[in-house]
Amino acid sequence: MTHRPTAVVIGAGIGGIASAARLARNGFNVTVLEKNEKPGGRANQIVRDGHRFDVGPTLFLMPEVWEETYAALGERMSDHLDLKRIDPTYKVHFEDGLQLQLTSNLGDMQEQLERVEKTAFTGFLNYIAEGSKHYKLSLEKFVGRNFFSIFEYLSLGNLPLIFQLKALAKHYAHTSRFFKDERLKAAFTFQNMYLGLSPYDAPATYSLLQYTELAEGVWYPMGGMYRAIETLTAVAEKLGVKFIYNSPVREIRVADSRVESVVTTDGREFIADTFVGNADLPYIYKELLPKNAESARLQKKLYTCSTIMFYWGVDRQYPQIAHHNVFLGGDYKASFDQIFKDHKLPEEPSFYIHAPARTDPAAAPAGQDTLYVLVPVGHLDDGQEQDWDAMVGAARSTVFNRLASEMGITDLESHIKFEIVYQPETWKERFNLEKGAAFGLSHNFWQVGYLRPKNRHSQYKNLYFTGASTHPGTGLPIVLLSARLTTERILKEMGTIPVQDMANTISVASA
Ligand SMILES: Cc1cc2nc3c(=O)[nH]c(=O)nc-3n(C[C@H](O)[C@H](O)[C@H](O)COP(=O)(O)OP(=O)(O)OC[C@H]3O[C@@H](n4cnc5c(N)ncnc54)[C@H](O)[C@@H]3O)c2cc1C
Repeated sequence: MTHRPTAVVIGAGIGGIASAARLARNGFNVTVLEKNEKPGGRANQIVRDGHRFDVGPTLFLMPEVWEETYAALGERMSDHLDLKRIDPTYKVHFEDGLQLQLTSNLGDMQEQLERVEKTAFTGFLNYIAEGSKHYKLSLEKFVGRNFFSIFEYLSLGNLPLIFQLKALAKHYAHTSRFFKDERLKAAFTFQNMYLGLSPYDAPATYSLLQYTELAEGVWYPMGGMYRAIETLTAVAEKLGVKFIYNSPVREIRVADSRVESVVTTDGREFIADTFVGNADLPYIYKELLPKNAESARLQKKLYTCSTIMFYWGVDRQYPQIAHHNVFLGGDYKASFDQIFKDHKLPEEPSFYIHAPARTDPAAAPAGQDTLYVLVPVGHLDDGQEQDWDAMVGAARSTVFNRLASEMGITDLESHIKFEIVYQPETWKERFNLEKGAAFGLSHNFWQVGYLRPKNRHSQYKNLYFTGASTHPGTGLPIVLLSARLTTERILKEMGTIPVQDMANTISVASA
């Protein structure tokens, strides 16, 4: 009888679930060890008194990547997810009272933009066209493939792409080519925060985000983002994956050039042929593997920001709050400096409110509301004192004050039935995110593509990684791509042909 290959996956975030399912579909016997009581990682869910909150992600983007994932597992996404398009995508509020509803309805956009700046609509069309080019090129040439050498990454064929993708231009400065009004530049760059980046440092490549949202759409799975986790976990289980919860891995045991086993905090040892680390990559190097120079190097890399979160069960509804709402702080540049350089709550914080019951009434009891508030803040910084209680208090007051002055919502505080707060230490403790950086390692020029930590350990050849801090990066669909690339690499290195030849994807380059 031939030996059925075995794999152990550390972590049941979306990257761990998708990799486990893909490996199982390709004949592996897979066990997933998850620290917490349920799957999902950052894409988790809290249910309390009839209020249902998505913990992290609220924007379902790049549906074609999701479709490919379900298809590679032998399923149809539409059998699992009931997606609703959210348009207008966001209501954006500026401190001076200007409001914009970002939408794919061109007539509406034209009217709103020309009220702010005469030529802005033409600028917008050009900006989205450039974003479309960036999106397609990035996906095909950088994001959707593995890199096995620096020569491959910086090959003669790829070098012109650095210029075509405006990888060396700063995103905010680059928007001056399209808009003059500072508020419009802000409205079309704040999305960099999804990657945990300041638009003043992010490459102009990331105009691809605005293109994706407006052209490909911002979607919402009925039942919440967590439906994606539940259904992918169910598909993985159907393929034979065994999930073991409440089982934090405390050590990865190695011998020479291989990992031999992993050991959980209660002393159980799991042996396998292949191991996949889905927990945050810098944490795995620092806490689970024998110390080496790489773990120290990873500590010095640039990390994304963190967030303060408020999850509020509210006993009434405020219809003026849309499904997605963004409130931009007054001094846009200073607020990013205070987050990314000073590692604190900005003096004039921006924030985002998610009100899923606008689309999905079942997210709250009848007539009530479920509100999720995300306030970007600096990550944990050992080098300075950070008074998180004070910052949480200041963030909460900012939200109440702006809702009162800009929306006339003056009684929210008295209608909050309960509040759950997450802050950088919560992200660190609950999901082992290094520095509490909510989106993992940053995505500046030096930390993407071949320069991002690799999806296989350089010494332990049977230890692979998947997730936000390895290639290609953060965001649910990008982590789904990571799971695909990691699995393709495992299969290739084992000399196995994938069960499904994935259409429209870029084949793995030779090692
Ligand atoms: C507030 C917030 C908002 C976001 N919004 C969006 C959005 O709107 N759209 C979008 O696409 N993306 C969004 N993202 C990003 C997205 O959530 C992440 O990129 C993605 O969920 C990362 O998945 P992952 O599999 O890499 O890691 P994780 O979700 O971190 O999963 C890793 C898993 O490993 C487990 N683990 C850790 N240590 C151990 C151990 N020792 N043993 C066993 N298990 C362990 C953890 O508990 C966790 O379950 C958001 C993220 C945050 C935090």
